[in-house]
Amino acid sequence: MRLILLGPPGAGKGTQAKLLTGRLGIPQVSTGDILRQAVAHGTELGREAKSFMDRGALVPDEVVIGIIEERLRKPDCAPGYILDGFPRTLPQAEALARALTSLHASMDRVLSVEVPEEDLVKRLTGRRVCRGCGNMYHVDTSPPRKAGRCDTCGDSLYQRDDDKEETIRHRLRVYKEQTQPLVAYYERLGLLERIDGRGTVEEISQRVHRALG
Ligand code: AMP
Repeated sequence: MRLILLGPPGAGKGTQAKLLTGRLGIPQVSTGDILRQAVAHGTELGREAKSFMDRGALVPDEVVIGIIEERLRKPDCAPGYILDGFPRTLPQAEALARALTSLHASMDRVLSVEVPEEDLVKRLTGRRVCRGCGNMYHVDTSPPRKAGRCDTCGDSLYQRDDDKEETIRHRLRVYKEQTQPLVAYYERLGLLERIDGRGTVEEISQRVHRALG
């Protein structure tokens, strides 16, 4: 199955993608994770992407399209995948459609995870990530057992540079202007399912499960 998880930053796409990976046995493909890894390793791609990411701006289309084209050709993507954070612009969606055609494949479903803006700001400003294993926590709603330490691997937790409030407001504006039009684009293609992204991880996961039948 080939799936896209669409939704604003903080809607919980990454969390749901990880749960689906376990359930469906297909990989999560997150352009944000690929870019953050490149930044951490100091590669040329990372150096190019970092200034955009720190400002909460989108990395140029040709860069992320190149990343995705390469990633989708890897053997683990043959049975399907969950796209998390891609596409984010109309040119990216069109490039994805072309890449799928060249691989004789098509998209099965697009889930739009919808959450009110003020909830997103609260979720993102409280979000903390483990340096070691990438596990996510929230200072209010899912704190670690020991402050600042990962329950799973014990490594330290940090706040992403782009999870500061001012940057978050900017990322949400970018989402509205550049990514939200994709909801109508996929609706026209008959692929869209809207998911209420409020509530607990478990509740949202059940809605995702129902939407996928
Ligand atoms: P995310 O983890 O999906 O919120 O992505 C973090 C940051 O990586 C975004 O704010 C962008 O700067 C960049 N990024 C991730 N995916 C894309 C994409 N498809 N197009 C452009 N920039 C992206």
